[in-house]
Amino acid sequence: MRYQRSSALFKSAQRVIPGGVNSPVRAFKAVGGTPVFVEKAKGAYLYDVDGNTLIDYISSWGPMILGHAFEPVIEAVKLRAESGTSYGMPTELETQIAELAVQMVPNVDKIRMVNSGTEACMSAVRLARGYTQREKIIKFAGCYHGHSDAFLIQAGSGAVTFGAPNSPGVTQGTAKDTLLAEYNDLELVSNHFEQHPEQIAAIIVEPVAGNMGCIPPQDGFMQGLRKLCDQHQALLIFDEVMTGFRLAKGGAQESLGVTADLITYGKVLGGGLPVGAFAAKAEIMNHLAPEGPVYQAGTLSGNPLAMAAGLAMLTHLNENPEVFDRLAKKTKSIALGMKNLLVKKGIPYQINRYGSMMSLHFTDQAVVDFKTAALGNNENFKAYFHGMLDRGVYLPPSAFESYFLNDALSEKDIDFTLSAFEDWLINKKS
Ligand SMILES: *Cc1c(COP(=O)(O)O)cnc(C)c1O
Repeated sequence: MRYQRSSALFKSAQRVIPGGVNSPVRAFKAVGGTPVFVEKAKGAYLYDVDGNTLIDYISSWGPMILGHAFEPVIEAVKLRAESGTSYGMPTELETQIAELAVQMVPNVDKIRMVNSGTEACMSAVRLARGYTQREKIIKFAGCYHGHSDAFLIQAGSGAVTFGAPNSPGVTQGTAKDTLLAEYNDLELVSNHFEQHPEQIAAIIVEPVAGNMGCIPPQDGFMQGLRKLCDQHQALLIFDEVMTGFRLAKGGAQESLGVTADLITYGKVLGGGLPVGAFAAKAEIMNHLAPEGPVYQAGTLSGNPLAMAAGLAMLTHLNENPEVFDRLAKKTKSIALGMKNLLVKKGIPYQINRYGSMMSLHFTDQAVVDFKTAALGNNENFKAYFHGMLDRGVYLPPSAFESYFLNDALSEKDIDFTLSAFEDWLINKKS
């Protein structure tokens, strides 16, 4: 593969954009080398500026669940754009997508649209605090809930990749209200409730973690969190920005059979345009302005282009729910194929998988939380990432990210991917 033009574009970008990118993981810091600049994408493939074709396993970090430039979404956006792109006034589209989302998702009556997953999580926590009149929240090490201050305490994803889990700029005052626990460990959570009686507004959690690689919840973990919240009158917030409309119509709530009090969305919901949302029962949502006292607003919230894209996406998923199973099957066949090859070669590995999320960690210890996720051999990961890239497969450029498969991926693409992996393993220097 050649990357001359990507290289040149990255140099220009670095002069005017911090680090040359508008979101850190794109910069390849964890794996080294030059980020690939995209020209266009269609279906399962990325076409870069140097003329390379790559099979895409990040799907824009989740949103492109049906593949790139999915026709009904593109048509909806084109059509809508002709009527103007923003009004700062309500449109019928907003009600249509809200009705559909509320119908697809368990346990919610109302939904508020925002512009990103970060905004959704930040607003959900404010609402939880306003509703419970309490100030503290519990979050889990390695879980990522966007980049707002309260969450940048051992956040996963890019924040971990750079080894700076606590960002400068986050004040002590903010940090003291975020209590940290370990994923898949109920005891620490229980201790927090005992040590801070009637002070904890909410637990926020990724119901299937995807920002320290993919880490599914162990049996009883989510049920345990649900129970602790009920015992202590705290709210359970499921951050379904990644899992929502990906694991099932009703996201992780449906897939795991556990309901949350507040749920945040993003990624798939926007069909590739900037959208986030948070949803709950009316009793909770009615505390939100203009109906209630908890303030939250947005000039471009419910933007008609974004709503048109999201509505086309949700409509397709709602009418074709077999997509979710099909994606899980594809993910399973890749995981099994890779396992067989890794065993043959005798390389220590863990492959975690849930639905259409998966990740490969180069360690022989079970990866069940942030600490164990950090045990992976990063030299192996770097070599693996670049080995696959050179063979035409685009993986997440960090071991702390989940792969996101899309429905456009064919059997042939999967075979190609496994052959590339085998070829890399054969040529790997040990
Ligand atoms: C991506 C992500 C976010 C942040 O969403 P943005 O749209 O990037 O702000 C929050 N929570 C989870 C679980 C995510 O995966």
